[in-house]
Amino acid sequence: MTNAMELYQLLPKTNCKECGKTSCMAFAVALLSRELTADDCPPLKNEPKFKEKYEKINELAGPAGGATETGLIVHEELCFGCGNCVVACPVNVANDPYGVGSGNAPKKNEKLILTIEDGIVKAQNVDECRRFGKNKILCTGCIVTCPVEAIEFVV
Ligand code: SF4
Ligand code: SF4
Ligand code: SF4
Repeated sequence: MTNAMELYQLLPKTNCKECGKTSCMAFAVALLSRELTADDCPPLKNEPKFKEKYEKINELAGPAGGATETGLIVHEELCFGCGNCVVACPVNVANDPYGVGSGNAPKKNEKLILTIEDGIVKAQNVDECRRFGKNKILCTGCIVTCPVEAIEFVV
C-alpha cells in the first residue's frame, strides 16, 4: 500500500497550484484518498519528462474502479479464500449467529457482506458495512484479519 510521501516524491514538486490544491503535498493527499487522479495535475499529465512518474502514480493510486460505496476493494488476485474476513466481520456475525457467528459455514447468504465463492472472497450488501452511511465507524475487522492484504478501503 502506498502513502502520501511516496506519491509526493513522484509529483513535479513545483507547487504551481494548477490542480486547484495549495501544494503538491496537498495533491498527494488527495491522490491517496482518490479525491483526485494523476490526470488532475496538468504538468504531470502533459509534460513528456514526467511520463514515467505519471504511469507510476496511476499504478499506485489509480482510479478505484473496483471500489464500492464504502471504498471497499477486494484484490481477488491476492485472496486465497481462507475465510478469516468472513468470520471477523461483525455484520456477518450479527446476521448469521448460527453460521459464521458460531465459527461455522454461513447458514444463509443474503445478508452477509463477505462470503467465499469459488475459493475467493466476494463482497455484497456493502451498504450494511459499518463504514457506510452517516453513522459510519472505521471498522477494520476484515482488513486486519486478512493475512495477505487482499481487502483495502480507499476512502
Ligand atoms: S498541478 Fe501538479 S505540480 Fe502543480 S501543485 Fe498541483 S500537483 Fe503540484
Ligand atoms: S469494514 Fe467491518 S463491517 Fe465492513 S466489511 Fe469489513 S469487517 Fe465487515
Ligand atoms: S481474509 Fe483475505 S485471503 Fe482470507 S478470504 Fe478474506 S480476503 Fe481472502
